[in-house]
Amino acid sequence: MSRDSSSTTEAVGKLIQALNKLPGVGPKSAQRIAYYLLRANELDNQALAEAILQVKQKTKLCSICLNVSETDICHICSSEPRDRSKICIVEQPQDILALEHTHKFNGLYHVLHGSLAPSEGIGPDDLKINELMERLKGGTVTEVILATNTNLEGEQTALYLHRLIAPMGIKVTRLARGLPFGTELEYADDITLSRALEGRQEF
Ligand SMILES: [Zn+2]
Repeated sequence: MSRDSSSTTEAVGKLIQALNKLPGVGPKSAQRIAYYLLRANELDNQALAEAILQVKQKTKLCSICLNVSETDICHICSSEPRDRSKICIVEQPQDILALEHTHKFNGLYHVLHGSLAPSEGIGPDDLKINELMERLKGGTVTEVILATNTNLEGEQTALYLHRLIAPMGIKVTRLARGLPFGTELEYADDITLSRALEGRQEF
């Protein structure tokens, strides 16, 4: 990285370093993108820079489900026809995108913003679990679908939530059938995800 950055100008080097921090962008890709942007139309670059700035400035978390939203209450939580008796629990906002794409779920969501990872020091207090419990106290929810990833952290999180929620008399199901171990929801294909949702089993 340092060799590559020092052999170009400071501005290009800075851009390469910034791009290299993005997920899935290695040093080679960062260089390719940086030089692409150097040749690109200035208006396109401006639009890109503005989009990057606005994604933070114009979005917040929905005060109910903690999904990314431009309004206090997101479009899913405020949608009248949605079934308020079911809450599907996911790790990240992008998991909602994947599940919505299947058109197989008409309930509401709750975003944990992570998963339990004791080895990395991530415990229940680091996730949006208190917010979830507050929602469940309302009494309108009859089923909670645990749609955490099927990797170790996701399974641990599902187990923890099951222990917490089942004593409240709420049916707890796990979206797992058809999803191989290690699957991250956001990368699962529509058909697999639809089947996993339809074939969800009581935890
Ligand atoms: Zn919401």
